[in-house]
Amino acid sequence: MDLRALYMYAAVPALLLCSAATFIQSPTDVFGPVSLLEPTPSSARDFGAVVSDAPFAIMRPGSAADVALLLRALSSSAKPRPRAAVAARGAGHSLQGQAQARGGIVVETRSLPRAVVVVAADVSGGDANAYADVGAGALWVEVLEECLRAGLAPPSWTDYLYLTVGGTLSNAGISGQAFKHGPQISNVLQLQVVTGNGDVVTCSPTESPDLFFAVLGGLGQFGIITRARIRLQHAPPKVRWVRAFYDSFEAFTQDQELLISMPEQIDYVEGFMVLNEHSIQSSSIAFPAHIDFSPDFGSDGSKKKVYYCVEFAVHDFQQDDGSTVDHVVELVSGAMSYIRPHMYSAEVSYFDFLNRVRMEEESLRIQGLWDVPHPWLNLFVPGHAVARLKDLLMDTVLAGHFDGAILVYPLLADKWNKNTSAVLPSTPDGGVMYVFSVLRSADPSRCGHRCVEEILEQHRRVADEACRAGGGGIGAKQYLARQPSQEHWRDHFGPGWDRLVARKARYDPVRVLGPGQGIFPWTDSATSMWR
Ligand code: FAD
Repeated sequence: MDLRALYMYAAVPALLLCSAATFIQSPTDVFGPVSLLEPTPSSARDFGAVVSDAPFAIMRPGSAADVALLLRALSSSAKPRPRAAVAARGAGHSLQGQAQARGGIVVETRSLPRAVVVVAADVSGGDANAYADVGAGALWVEVLEECLRAGLAPPSWTDYLYLTVGGTLSNAGISGQAFKHGPQISNVLQLQVVTGNGDVVTCSPTESPDLFFAVLGGLGQFGIITRARIRLQHAPPKVRWVRAFYDSFEAFTQDQELLISMPEQIDYVEGFMVLNEHSIQSSSIAFPAHIDFSPDFGSDGSKKKVYYCVEFAVHDFQQDDGSTVDHVVELVSGAMSYIRPHMYSAEVSYFDFLNRVRMEEESLRIQGLWDVPHPWLNLFVPGHAVARLKDLLMDTVLAGHFDGAILVYPLLADKWNKNTSAVLPSTPDGGVMYVFSVLRSADPSRCGHRCVEEILEQHRRVADEACRAGGGGIGAKQYLARQPSQEHWRDHFGPGWDRLVARKARYDPVRVLGPGQGIFPWTDSATSMWR
């Protein structure tokens, strides 16, 4: 159908657009109050800064009904229908164009109502029995600020809070609390979703459960989340934040597993590799205690040495001198095998603890190192293979120059609901798996376009090797990645592929949604009419 035909297309709601360069508002009697706007530079950009696909138009919906109008028009069974793929875009912190829609429409969820409504039935007891209804375009930092006014907070976080609720729920949302409370997708009570068909559905584990679980970790494939109900718990006023250093990977992971076996005492567990002096400095920007650890990284020509840092936190509900928390830290540290005396701790407000990456962002912005390409690699690794994955990284990624951080911390698979779309490696008995996050930044003064391509290629090779299952393979799964082909997506989903395809056929049969993930390329003549 050409654009002239589209003008005459009045039987169903239609999008009226005249060219990629100009914008014409849809007539309100046909397309309601919804306007499509010319794309902005940010609609073809994300935090990764390695993919840039310009859409034909963007939309800033004011309600779920606006999103429904758009999706209903695009999935209508009337022939001919306007064709365009649609990507929801939250904060745009994807890494490989996942929130982009080449030649299609980007729906900016930040324009949806962002009110955070806290409902607390009973905050007096141990279990807060409370929740927050939040707009999907709200940033987690906005959710935190509002909930803290009521002394409450969601139990599960991401390390960085300037991500939208809809964006992280479409992936999983993990941080150091996930071993105890599961990922963010395990802490959702209800969602409002606009499906690819344009239906506005309220769903939960008991109401339209298949859609509910499909959308959680669903990579934006089945619907656009417009609202979420998030479980809340009591928020501690303060947190004791502890770091301990290691020269043995085995001792490092053993202590992490010790910590996650104590969920009654410990509230957060992460860790990172200490590759050089810079790793210690850059990771200490938000950590208020003075760290007096200057190890030998092999500068005298001997083999390069690597160290490790376990990070844990204990919520401090005491208003007094914090002696209960002191007792927990003393008890735990006595059982740990860090390099003595290199354990450091600080008392910080709960908000500052959760918002710690903001200080790193500000520092990187000042150095001009925030808005640069970020070739990242995130893997979930079965616990039994974590040392092999570390060795694989040491032989490849860490053999050359490295700018950035490598996070390593354990999660428990049985805290994840298997009905969601999130993909985990196989771990016997719902056991331990590790997050391995290779978070690189490419300083343009040292690493130009070609160098970024080489890093991406290296990560692809490592991911292929790490994700190989059977025959002694590590059997890892990638997190937050755009796979290079549908074959890779099939391998990624493994036995879950058929369920994914069935859910797609049910909720987005015309395959309007989520083109930036590259899972379901259009198969008919449905290449974008506006390309
Ligand atoms: P976008 O990039 O805008 O979108 C991501 C995907 O979700 C796209 O496919 C998009 O189409 C889809 N989507 C967005 N909104 C909706 C919606 N309302 N309904 C349906 N689909 C939607 N992740 C973690 O788990 N833990 C971390 O600690 C963590 N730290 C990070 C730190 C930084 C600095 C960065 C850049 C990323 C981090 N991430 C982390 C990754 C982050 O969770 C994902 O990139 C997430 O997608 C970002 O949210 P966003 O709002 O920017 O989403």
